[in-house]
Amino acid sequence: GAKANGRNCTRLFDPNDPQSSDESEHIAALLKIAIDQKLVSLVYQPIRNVASGRVDAVEALMRLKMLDGTAVPPSLFIPIAERTGAILDLGRWAIRTVCQELLANDHVPVVSVNVSPIQLRSPGFAASVAAILGETGVAGGRLALEITEGLDMEMHSDILRCISDLKTLGIRIWLDDFGTGFAGLSWLRLIDFDTVKIDRSFLHDCDAPRGKAMLKDIIGLVRNRGPKILVEGVETEEQLALMRQFRIDQVQGFHVGRPAPARNFRPATPGSTRPGRVEPA
Ligand code: C2E
Ligand code: MG
Ligand code: MG
Ligand code: MG
Repeated sequence: GAKANGRNCTRLFDPNDPQSSDESEHIAALLKIAIDQKLVSLVYQPIRNVASGRVDAVEALMRLKMLDGTAVPPSLFIPIAERTGAILDLGRWAIRTVCQELLANDHVPVVSVNVSPIQLRSPGFAASVAAILGETGVAGGRLALEITEGLDMEMHSDILRCISDLKTLGIRIWLDDFGTGFAGLSWLRLIDFDTVKIDRSFLHDCDAPRGKAMLKDIIGLVRNRGPKILVEGVETEEQLALMRQFRIDQVQGFHVGRPAPARNFRPATPGSTRPGRVEPA
C-alpha cells in the first residue's frame, strides 16, 4: 500500500548517501512535470466539530506518485518542492483544485490547505489567491490556510503583510502542528489565528498524568489568546472523550476519518445533503 511505499521512500532518502541524492533529484524532476502529467492529487481528511458531532471542515493533503504509480510521501517531496521552488506552482494548483473540486460545487463548509512559508514570502501570493477565488466564485470565508510553525519560519514582515492581506479576503488562518517548534509562541503573539491545531504528538502520552497535564496547559495557553482549538491525531474513543472533557472545538484523526478523494465528500444526490452535514463515506 501507499504507507509501505512511503516508508521505503523515507528509508531511501538520506542526504549524505549519494544514492539518496539521486532519489532527491529524481523527485525534483518529477515535481516539474507533476501537474501536467497528473502525478499530483489531493485527498481530504474530515475535521469534526466536537460539540455538534458534524464534519464542519476538511483538510486537503497533497499526494504525489511516480510514473510507475509508487506513492511518494509528503514528508519527502514537500521539502524538495520547497528547496526547488516547485512549491509555488504546486501550492497555487492545490488552492485552485480545492476550489474547483470541492468548494465550488459541494457542501463542505470549509477546506483548509497547507501553505509553506516560501509561498507566504513570495510576492503576489495573496493576489494570486484572490484571483483563484474570483475565477471559481468561492467566498474567501470557506478557505483556510494552514501555516506550520517551523524553525525556518522567521518573522519576515513580508509574511505578516501577506497574512493580513489574506485575512482581508476573509480567508481563515490556522496555525498547524502547534507545540513542535520554537517559533509557535512568537507566532501566537503576532498573528490573530482563527484556529490553532495542537500537534498529534501531545496525544501520545495523554493517558498518563504528566502527558494529560501537559496537554491541558497547552490548551489553556492557546485558549487564553482567543483562537479555536483543534487537536490533530485523535485515534481512539478514549482520546475523543478527553477532548470533550477539555472542551476542544474540533478534532481530526483516524478516529474521525482517513484522508480520502473529493468524491467521498460529495452528497450522493445533489441537494440531498445540507451544508455542515456532509459525512465522509
Ligand atoms: P499536517 O498538515 O500536519 O497533516 C496531518 C498529517 O497527519 C497527514 O499526513 C495525515 O495523513 C496525518 N494524520 C492525520 N490523522 C492522523 C492520525 O490519527 N494518526 C496519524 N499517525 N497520522 C494522522 P500526510 O498527508 O503524510 O502529510 C504530512 C505533512 O505534509 C502535512 O502535515 C503537511 O505539513 C505536509 N503537506 C501535506 N500536503 C501539503 C500541501 O499541499 N502543501 C504543503 N505545503 N504541505 C503539505
Ligand atoms: Mg496541516
Ligand atoms: Mg498538522
Ligand atoms: Mg502534524
